[in-house]
Amino acid sequence: MNILVLDVDTLRADHLSAYGYRYPTTPAMDRLAAEGALFENALCAGLPTAPAHTSFYTGRHPIAHGIVSHGGARDLPDMMPFLPELLAAQGFTTAAVDNLYDNKKGFARGYEYYINPGLKRKAGLLITAEELNARAISWLRQHADEPFFLFLHYWDPHTPYLPPERYRDLFYEGVPDDPDNDSLDVMQRQPLGDLWTETWFPKLHPDLTDADYVRAAYDQCIRYTDDAIGEILNTLEELGIAGETLVALMGDHGESMTEHDIYFEHHGLYEPTLRVPLILRWPDTIPAGRRIPALVQHTDLLPTFLEATGTKIPEGVDGHSLWPLIRGEVTSVRPFAIAEECTWQAAWCIRTERHKLILYRQPGLHNTPMRELYDLAADPGETRNLALEEWELADHLEREFERWLREKMHRHSLIEDPLIEQGITLGKRWLAERDRFKG
Ligand SMILES: [Zn+2]
Repeated sequence: MNILVLDVDTLRADHLSAYGYRYPTTPAMDRLAAEGALFENALCAGLPTAPAHTSFYTGRHPIAHGIVSHGGARDLPDMMPFLPELLAAQGFTTAAVDNLYDNKKGFARGYEYYINPGLKRKAGLLITAEELNARAISWLRQHADEPFFLFLHYWDPHTPYLPPERYRDLFYEGVPDDPDNDSLDVMQRQPLGDLWTETWFPKLHPDLTDADYVRAAYDQCIRYTDDAIGEILNTLEELGIAGETLVALMGDHGESMTEHDIYFEHHGLYEPTLRVPLILRWPDTIPAGRRIPALVQHTDLLPTFLEATGTKIPEGVDGHSLWPLIRGEVTSVRPFAIAEECTWQAAWCIRTERHKLILYRQPGLHNTPMRELYDLAADPGETRNLALEEWELADHLEREFERWLREKMHRHSLIEDPLIEQGITLGKRWLAERDRFKG
């Protein structure tokens, strides 16, 4: 068998047509979902990029692997079992087309082939799907007859949302520069807002006033990535290995468009950022068209892959194998999901099937109350904070969370909550850069 991971940075679940989006953004991913299992509530354990990927690679929660922020000083723990190493030891040829190595060198661990298209680029520029596919398809052609683990990390839906010219008219019906449109005004008053409107928006459209135009650009990038993924899926068919390849499509974290006054960024533990797509296809093993509502997290993929390959799951893994859910033997693998962010603001959240409680350790760019409670069934947009009105439920969830935290801290010999100990990292640096830019 083979395992192919299609990892799309900054892909929020509800912008895929497979997840009910109003535009046809993802025909290839929709096909994958129709032929496999779609997880309706896949949530980050840590966000953004570095914590999310570390949780994927180790099967552990950020409290256990220690990478709680992007851009923090901590390195990946050397001794912690890492997915590609475990699969290489089982005889899989391991390969990645990715540039996470540029963030932390440990992201290349366990790969026999680590192909980094970022090396040829100037710092700060993201790899395009076209550059990625050129390398991935030629690698697939050369290694199709070996059992492989191939990890492809697409970046196109990440800001600055600049898809190739041929996608630029999709998914938009408005007037981009209508002077009466004030949908970007709040953004311009925010820290960094002016920087972005001055440097990035002019590349999208001169005199841009419509936030929906930026949303459309994000969706165009999704469609561009989807077309590239379609090409990879067609290559599997052409090489005759689609049937023996377990394909996993995932996002590392989502993206807020304008929700909660978070503009085109991935901070905040609200659903647009927290909830990611997760689709698994493995013909003859995974029933086609299954939709699974259970709460699952990135940590679950390592035990799922290891079980599929008959590999022993290492001690200390927090994730749960998804096979019992896929086979319909159980309807849930955890009573609640816990997630953290410590990049722009330091916050935890505990999410049950119906509710979410967010607990701030250190406020970030937004003047949010230190505790937010949402009823996701009644208020999916998380617009009504019930923390005061339903304080008994908020207290109950907070106690559940604190019990979880104390148990994990005890197990990993932590003296302090890492979000308090490490504090906000990237947010601080960016704010300092913004001041320098203005000065
Ligand atoms: Zn990311």
